Amino acid sequence: MTTADQTTADQSTAAQRAKEIVRTAPAQGAAASPAVPAAAVTGPETTATDELVRRARGFASRRAAAGQGEVLPAPPALRVAVLACMDARLDVAAVLGLPEGAAHVIRNAGGVVTDDAVRSLAISQHELGTREIVLIQHTRCGMQTITDEGFRDLMESRTGSRPEWPVLAFRDLEENVRESVEALAASPYLRQSTSVRGFVYDVAAGSLHEVAAARPAAAGDRQTAEG
Ligand SMILES: [Zn+2]
Repeated sequence: MTTADQTTADQSTAAQRAKEIVRTAPAQGAAASPAVPAAAVTGPETTATDELVRRARGFASRRAAAGQGEVLPAPPALRVAVLACMDARLDVAAVLGLPEGAAHVIRNAGGVVTDDAVRSLAISQHELGTREIVLIQHTRCGMQTITDEGFRDLMESRTGSRPEWPVLAFRDLEENVRESVEALAASPYLRQSTSVRGFVYDVAAGSLHEVAAARPAAAGDRQTAEG
């Protein structure tokens, strides 16, 4: 099965899965939402957003009941910032075991190093004290199935506007992780002493593996730059 076939197959089940999701409560702990009566979500005017807002109404009391009523400090407790793809199958908090207050999680299409990702990471580091960056991209990423020019063509044909921003599609996943780590390590806006490590999440297996740096000397380079 090609990646394009897989994407089509994934999309064909999406509508069915959406129905299941709005009928099924989140599974975890005391923060879980009560089950949703099917009748509540089958009305023609009900959107998924309506259902999510309904769930959020009960969050404060569930959170308090779980002993999470206090306001935590804004600086992440682990002093970690995660940059990850926005893919819905990558549940960053679940995979890394991140409770509330533990880490910043910055997401975009691909988990790539955009100006805005660097903006958020710079604020994370210089205003809120994070000292490590965990980069997570993943298998079967949609950004591997498009091209920059192809997506610009699509946007222009659908909207009449051709984006000037870089789309940042890629083919080789591990190479893209390596390049992203190098781009973060070289950013003049981020602390030179930052630990930057890149990982691939396997959406089929649910496993995470680290991508080795292309240049083991990179840490030394950064140390020199710092000194
Ligand atoms: Zn992705």
